[in-house]
Amino acid sequence: MPARGVVLSMGAVRVLVLAMGGTISMDQGSEGAAPRFGGEELLASLPGLPPSADVHVETMGRASSENLDVGAMLGVAERIRRARDSYGGVVVTIGTDALEELAFALDVVLDVELPVVLTGALRNSSVPSADGPANVLDAICVAASPAARGLGVLVVFNQEIHAARFVQKAHTFALDAFRSDPCGPLGWIVEERPRIAHRAAAPPIRVALDAGASVPYVALATTFGGDDGRTLGGFEREDVAGLVIQTLGSGHVSRALVEPLTRLAQRIPVVYASRIPFGDLFTDTYAYPGAEIDLLSRGLICSGALGGPKARALLALLLASGATREQIARVFADSRGG
Ligand code: ASP
Repeated sequence: MPARGVVLSMGAVRVLVLAMGGTISMDQGSEGAAPRFGGEELLASLPGLPPSADVHVETMGRASSENLDVGAMLGVAERIRRARDSYGGVVVTIGTDALEELAFALDVVLDVELPVVLTGALRNSSVPSADGPANVLDAICVAASPAARGLGVLVVFNQEIHAARFVQKAHTFALDAFRSDPCGPLGWIVEERPRIAHRAAAPPIRVALDAGASVPYVALATTFGGDDGRTLGGFEREDVAGLVIQTLGSGHVSRALVEPLTRLAQRIPVVYASRIPFGDLFTDTYAYPGAEIDLLSRGLICSGALGGPKARALLALLLASGATREQIARVFADSRGG
């Protein structure tokens, strides 16, 4: 008997493609690249479709991802929940610039078994060797694969299959821009066949939210050596519900930031992440003013292994769910696993 949600017709799995915009929906145009195509045009541009999939498409938007906040993913999650009984897998085509936090946000709010695969393009459709068609075909193959069920939200680029939990955009334009250091991709695609090499052992991070939830404004700031504190000036506003500060190294800020951060942490949740893309934050090594032991004693929360954009997404979703400061600290602590 087929697993729930997998509808088999002539051996093909029904796959829903949700098109949201990004470079994959662009051509060069007369004035430069901008989102133009909907999902129908995107599928029509493909050389063919994999026989493993019976593909249906819906256009959800033509946005560049800079204009999508994590709240936009609540509507996508709702559409996927409604699709799970009639489709065996879902592909979301989207811009790459904010994909890291948008894919992660979707993973946090969406608790479904069927494969959900995000993809996009680094090169628009007018550029020689545009990568959009190959990426979307690979993503469809993954979405149609029973091996990809239960892996959480996936991100497919450059023939690699990444977990949304770990992937980051680590290069501005390279075809292998998406990387999951230090654990690497979960698998790859060869001859239209997904190969899953390993599964994440870390327990999933979940926040229950429905599509109507309103997501408050959470700020993301980056500091630097010798910062005199002006970086934090704008965050005293009442309508800033939380702050993620991307520190230096493994959780270190200049002495001048300590008092302003302490004041903020008395009013709103303040999470410290790192401006370095990969590597966990420390909690108990350095003790001087502005280092992690000092920041923790002043009420800041450690982001664990989550980078700034993911930590910001998680904090915004937790605040939207009504979580208390203690609950927020617990979720970030648990997200470290082991
Ligand atoms: N700025 C575009 C976007 O993120 C670039 C891309 O799609 O990669 O939508």
